[in-house]
Amino acid sequence: MFAKVIVDIAHAAVDRAFTYRIPEGLEVLPGHHVLLPFGQGNHVKEGFVLSVSEKSGLGEDVSVKDVLSCLEPYTVLLQSQIALAEWMQEAYHCLLVDALRLMIPAQLRGSRIHEKRERIVYLADPAADFASRSHLQTEVVALLKKTGQPMSVRDIQAFVPGASAAITALLKKRVLSESSFTVFRRPEYGAQQVNIPELTPEQDQALTDVESLSSGQTALLYGVTGSGKTEVYLRCIEACLQRGQGAIVLVPEIALTPQTVGRFAARFGDRIAVLHSRLSAGERFDEWRRIRLGKASIVIGARSAVFAPVENLGLIIIDEEHESSYQSEITPRYHALDIARRRVKMSQGRLLLGSATPSLLSYYRALNGSYKLIELKHRVGGRPLPTVTIADMRAEFLNGNNGIFSSLLLSKLGECLRQGHQAMLFLNRRGYSTFVSCRACGYVLTCDNCDISMTYHKAQNAVRCHYCGARKPLPSVCPNCGKPFIKYFGIGTEQVEEQIQKWFPGTRTARMDADTVAHRDAYEQILSAFGRGDAQILIGTQMIAKGHDFPNVTLVGVIAADTTLNFPDYRSGERTFQLLTQVSGRAGRDRSPGQVVMQTYVPDHPVLQFARVQDYAGFYQYEIAQRKKCLYPPFSLFIRLLLSGENEDALIERGKEYAKVLEADIKTALGADGQGDLLLLLAAPAPIARIAGQNRYQILVKLLRTKRLPQALHAVYDFETSHREDGFLKIEINPQDMF
Ligand code: ADP
Ligand code: ZN
Repeated sequence: MFAKVIVDIAHAAVDRAFTYRIPEGLEVLPGHHVLLPFGQGNHVKEGFVLSVSEKSGLGEDVSVKDVLSCLEPYTVLLQSQIALAEWMQEAYHCLLVDALRLMIPAQLRGSRIHEKRERIVYLADPAADFASRSHLQTEVVALLKKTGQPMSVRDIQAFVPGASAAITALLKKRVLSESSFTVFRRPEYGAQQVNIPELTPEQDQALTDVESLSSGQTALLYGVTGSGKTEVYLRCIEACLQRGQGAIVLVPEIALTPQTVGRFAARFGDRIAVLHSRLSAGERFDEWRRIRLGKASIVIGARSAVFAPVENLGLIIIDEEHESSYQSEITPRYHALDIARRRVKMSQGRLLLGSATPSLLSYYRALNGSYKLIELKHRVGGRPLPTVTIADMRAEFLNGNNGIFSSLLLSKLGECLRQGHQAMLFLNRRGYSTFVSCRACGYVLTCDNCDISMTYHKAQNAVRCHYCGARKPLPSVCPNCGKPFIKYFGIGTEQVEEQIQKWFPGTRTARMDADTVAHRDAYEQILSAFGRGDAQILIGTQMIAKGHDFPNVTLVGVIAADTTLNFPDYRSGERTFQLLTQVSGRAGRDRSPGQVVMQTYVPDHPVLQFARVQDYAGFYQYEIAQRKKCLYPPFSLFIRLLLSGENEDALIERGKEYAKVLEADIKTALGADGQGDLLLLLAAPAPIARIAGQNRYQILVKLLRTKRLPQALHAVYDFETSHREDGFLKIEINPQDMF
C-alpha cells in the first residue's frame, strides 16, 4: 500500500503530495498524522496523509521511502476536512498545509501536547488483612477499604496528606495495584439551569422554516434584539441531535462569555465542546479531541471553530453574522461564512445566519433569493424596545454649551444616578482617523468623487480622501454656513471621565478602551465588576456593547454618533446602524425600561433616523441605494495590496511598478468586453503611511461584480503568488479596514 502525504512544512516548493510506502503491519488511513523521512538527509518530519492506494502510481524503478509511524492512534483529519482544505487551496491560492493546519490544535504539531492520564490505585486483594507499623500506609489501605473502589492518587492525597511515599511502598509490596485512564481537561462552562420556555408562534415558525430548508441551503434569521434568536438556535440544534447529526455554533470572540456558553451547556450538558482563544493549550487540545472522538457533537466557538472536526455535520449557526471578526486577517484570509457555506454544501447540512442587524450583503442575498429570509419581528414577552432620543449638538453649541454633554444627557444621567441605576457611555473613537466638521451646522467635509468623509492630516493641515487620493486644504470657515467653527473632531474616553467628575463629583466610573484593556482578562474583569455594581457609569468604545447583560443599566449615552458615521469607509452607515442597535439593546434588558440618548451634529441623517426607530428595512433600502449609486459592495469588490519596507523611495518605486503590471494582468484577465469592470486602481502611500518604522504603500483595486470577477481575482492571486518571495506583499480581499 502507498500513501500520498503532505509534509508539514509551509513552503510553496514542497506544498504537494509525496508518495510513501506503508510498511507491513502499520495501519495508515487518510487523515493520519505521520512521521516520515524527508529530503536528501532523510530528516524526520511530520506529515498528513491525504489518500491511500494500492499502487504508487510511479514507475517500477522509482524508489519510495517508508512511512515511519502514526503519531496518534486516530486520524486527526476527517476526509471532509481534507476536501475542504483542497477547496481552500484553490479558492484562496493558499498553501494546502496552511489550510490543513487550521483544522487541528497548533500544539498537536511537534507533539507539544499530550493527553493527560490520571493514576488510580486499588487493593490487589480487597479481602486480605493488612497490618503495618507505617501509620500512613495503614490509613491509605483503610481508606480504600472504606470506599470499596479504585481511587486516583490525587484523591487519596486529599484525604491522607503526604500519602505519596506510602502508596509507592504499598505498590511495591503488591498490596495495591495501579492503572490509569485519560482525563479531559475541561474549561468551566458555567451552566445555568433555566426552564425550557414554550416557543412563541414566531419562534415556532422560524424553527419550522429552518427544518424545511433543503440540504446545503442557507437561511438568514433576522430578529430584533431580544426576540429570542438563541432559543431558536437551541431548538434547531436539538432537532439536529435527534437526527444523529452534529452542529457548530459560531459566536464573535468577544461575545463568547460564560453567560453565552452557559445557556448551551444548560441545555446540552457534556455534549457541547467549546473552542476559543482563552483556553489553555491543554483544554483546547482536549476539547478538540472530545469533538474528534465523538464525545461532543455540538461545538461553540469563535471564527476558527468553523473547522471543528464534527462528523455528520447537520447544522452551522453563525450568530451576529454581520460581525467583522468572522473575517480572518491572516493567511489564508477566509471568511467563516464562506467556509460554512462550503461545509454545509459538502455535508448536505444547513447554514443559519442570525442577526438583529444583518450585513448588507446577507440581506441583499436574502432578498434576491439565494438565502431564505426568516424574521422575528417582536421581542419576547412584548418587552418594549428602549426609547431613543436624539440630542442636537448644533443647537447646544449655538446656545452656548460647548462641552461634551448635551443638557438632555446631563439631566438623564442625574436622574439615573439618583435612582441608583447604572449608565453606559459609548465613545467610538477608533484611533488614526479624524474627520472635519462644523460645530454650528454639522457640515462634514466629504470627497466630491467618493461621498466619503475626508481625513484630517495634521502635518499638512489638509484633508485627504483615502479612496481616491483627493486633497483639499483645510477651510477656515464652513463652506456651508460661513461660520468659523469648522475643525477636526476628537474626544477621548479620559476626557469623558474627567467631565463626569466635574458634573457629578464622586461618581464611581470605569473606563474601557483599547488602552485600558491590553488583554482579554482585563476586559472580563472590568465588565464583571461593573455587573456587580462597583461602578455607576461605564465609559468605553464599542467593545462594551457586546456579550454581557446588565439588568441595572437603564441609560445608554452615545457621546458622538458622528464618529462612526463619518468614518472614512463606505461601510460607515452600516456600522453606525449596527452599533446603535447593539448599544440600544444594552439598555433596559430587565424590568426597568431603557433610554438611549444619541448625541449628534447631524440629527436628520437618515441612518440615525432609521436607527432611532429601529427600522432595519428602511435603513437597508436607503443604504443599498447609496451603494448602488457609488458602485460600492455588494455591487463591487475592493482588493488592497499592501506593501511595506524600510526604504521609502524604493518602496514607492516598486509600488508604482507593481501597479502597472497588476493593471495589465487584470485587464488581460477581464478580456476585451470586460475592461470597464476595473473601476479603480490607485497606487498611493497607505492612509497610515508608516507603522513601527515600516513605510506602507498600497494598491487599491475596485472591481465591478460581474461574472468575470473570478477571472480577475485569479489574476490578482497569481500576481501575489509570483511575488510572494518578496516577503512584504500582503493582499486583502474586501479588507475590513483600509488603514
Ligand atoms: P436574542 O438572541 O434574539 O437577542 P434571546 O434569545 O437572548 O434574544 O432572548 C431574550 C430573552 O427572552 C432571554 O432572556 C430568553 O431566555 C427569553 N426567551 C426566549 N424565548 C422565550 C420564550 N419562548 N418564552 C419566554 N422567554 C423566552
Ligand atoms: Zn475620494
